[in-house]
Amino acid sequence: MAENPYEMAIKQLKKAIDILGYDETVLDILKVPQRILEVSIPVRMDDGKVKVFKGYRVQHNNALGPYKGGVRYHPDVTKDEVIALAMWMTWKCSVAGLPYGGAKGGVIVDPRKLSLRELEELSRGYIRAIAPIIGPYKDIPAPDVYTNPQVMAWYMDEYSKLRGYNVPGVVTAKPVELWGSHGREEATGYGVAIAARVASRKYGLPFEGARVAIQGYGNVGYSSALFIHRWGAKVVAVSDSKGGIYNPQGLDPIKVKEFKNRTGTVVGYPDAKKDISNEQLLTLEDIDILIPAAIENVITSENAAKVHAKIVIEGANGPVTPEADEILFKKGIIVVPDIIANAGGVIVSYYEWVQNLQGIQWDLEKVHKMLEDKMIPALDRIYKKHYSLNVDLRTAAYALAVERVVRAMKLRGWL
Ligand code: GLU
Repeated sequence: MAENPYEMAIKQLKKAIDILGYDETVLDILKVPQRILEVSIPVRMDDGKVKVFKGYRVQHNNALGPYKGGVRYHPDVTKDEVIALAMWMTWKCSVAGLPYGGAKGGVIVDPRKLSLRELEELSRGYIRAIAPIIGPYKDIPAPDVYTNPQVMAWYMDEYSKLRGYNVPGVVTAKPVELWGSHGREEATGYGVAIAARVASRKYGLPFEGARVAIQGYGNVGYSSALFIHRWGAKVVAVSDSKGGIYNPQGLDPIKVKEFKNRTGTVVGYPDAKKDISNEQLLTLEDIDILIPAAIENVITSENAAKVHAKIVIEGANGPVTPEADEILFKKGIIVVPDIIANAGGVIVSYYEWVQNLQGIQWDLEKVHKMLEDKMIPALDRIYKKHYSLNVDLRTAAYALAVERVVRAMKLRGWL
């Protein structure tokens, strides 16, 4: 049985609160979001009939600044999942040192089954429905699973029409032509690759030539593969929702992407030695680094014992369950947690927002440098805490994240 992500998020939070020695009140405040908005979005489909979709925007905590977090379009979206994802955004923004709280949105839909026009109508309808609670100083959406810069452009346009003037800072990860930041599109993968490089160095594994498997070949999986390959490690396996491919000699991420763009999947890529399942990818024997970069709940108590990688970098949000965490920890496998491993996306979202508020645009080199300048010190703080408390990296990251939020709440007089 797949674990409920909200229960997972609470278990992780409890562990951090115990370590920090905080009382029950802290847990009482942080275990529930500040606001949950459930909306219904009617869309006229291409066949002329109206279909009603359900969506959510969950605002978990804004002690550190406006709520921030992506919107996911997926048929399996649930309210509990969006709550967990919103909570994880609070920790992610906190541990990365951003002036943001955490939020998340979700719509129950399979966008792959919609026409472009239907997708646009759904996106505009969703943003109209949540417009009263978002804004550049309130809550700033961004992409997540199956949403992209085009969807962000529609969000920005619809919100601007409602307000009667352009509001670029209301969403991030927009197209570069429409006030998006250079480097945002690949920012999450860039950060994942940095996290992988730093973890290898810490544990004495040469990054050059390291063998990497990546689950998921969307924005995060692909951009991670790109930088990992560029920095000298070998991407030997990748997968998407239809299955995976494997080549011990290494795959060329760009060619795989071109193939997926043409065919809709990585499966059947001609330079692969064999096709593998998603489950096989997670338990490959000859890999050093495993990057689950698709969805939550993929490394569980059922398969954790079979993971052979030395390092797991959580490109996705919540891919490793708390039970699996313990199994991996006992096996000596290092897990770099999602709240820092995939923080590159929201870090560059923050830079995009800063640029929007000032009406300027930075070049790619500056954005990449500023991303490294946030990511590397944040990782260093987590490793330090991990050594000083003698706990796994997730608990260390949570301790830092929760501590910062609690301090802000105390200073505000909420506690
Ligand atoms: N959806 C991404 C995440 O989970 C990005 C959020 C953002 O840029 O606000 O971190």
